[in-house]
Amino acid sequence: MAGYRIEVTPPAIERYRAGNTGIDYVTTFDSGSAGPHVMVNALTHGNEICGAIALDHLLQSGVRPVRGKLTLAFVNVAAYRAFDRANPNAARYVDEDFNRLWDEATLSGPRRSAELTRARVLRPVYDRVDLLLDLHSMQYPTAPLMLVGMAAKTEGFARRVGVPELLVRDPGHAAGSRLRDYGPFADPGAPQIALLVECGQHWERRAADVAIEASWRFLAASGVLDEVRAQEISRPAAPPQRHITGTDAITINSEDFRFAADYRGLEVIPTAGTVIARDSGRDIRTPYDACVLIMPSRRLGRGQTAVRLGRFTG
Ligand SMILES: [Zn+2]
Repeated sequence: MAGYRIEVTPPAIERYRAGNTGIDYVTTFDSGSAGPHVMVNALTHGNEICGAIALDHLLQSGVRPVRGKLTLAFVNVAAYRAFDRANPNAARYVDEDFNRLWDEATLSGPRRSAELTRARVLRPVYDRVDLLLDLHSMQYPTAPLMLVGMAAKTEGFARRVGVPELLVRDPGHAAGSRLRDYGPFADPGAPQIALLVECGQHWERRAADVAIEASWRFLAASGVLDEVRAQEISRPAAPPQRHITGTDAITINSEDFRFAADYRGLEVIPTAGTVIARDSGRDIRTPYDACVLIMPSRRLGRGQTAVRLGRFTG
């Protein structure tokens, strides 16, 4: 697999270590007025540099809420510190994927890892947040996506944020719960909302620009900013959003999984029954016409999600 050029420079974040919450790399600004507690999260995956650039930008901008509270967190700093331009994928995590730990049994269970330790420290922060934006990036340079889960509340708020153009209603991964599916975020009856934005390819400059724009528009939509500032941010209007409804996640069952072609994501496979992969000799076929491939993975290990399938629904 060809590598990608690293166009971004990982920002120095040591200066944010102390923060003001008693938790390393977590800073909360409290307006002193009633309002939502909103949070922007970077480095859930340590090699997804765009989030760190966006958070550094927000902190340098001097952003402060006029209502409610704003929390800014660099999550998997241990993995980020190991970022090496010669082997940039290795910094995704230290021991395991931080974004597959977010169910009660795992968080409260006996297992230990660098990521579980950090998750257990950060959990009380997520428990107090009303609106969360989790900034990510992808392996291939496809159009930015917002993963909104299956709850209508999330899609409604995503439409107020207005970017990116593509919203994906997705059921998640067999390999474990993501932060955006944690507790009240995935509960259709609870008011809390988590948005996950995949800003672009991990190391393209454009992904950082998307992360910054998504962060500002998220803050504007959340109601914590001054109205005039929020209106400025929301102009010009972004292109109308479209949505893809995820139907299936293809989980890898063997050590011999291969895609039938060099898929990058957002391909629309016209005919039902087209073979898109082989898993230990078993054909994986598209279940319906005009099937969209969502975020095919380059990490093809047993138990991992190889690709999600969906259809354009609006
Ligand atoms: Zn990620």
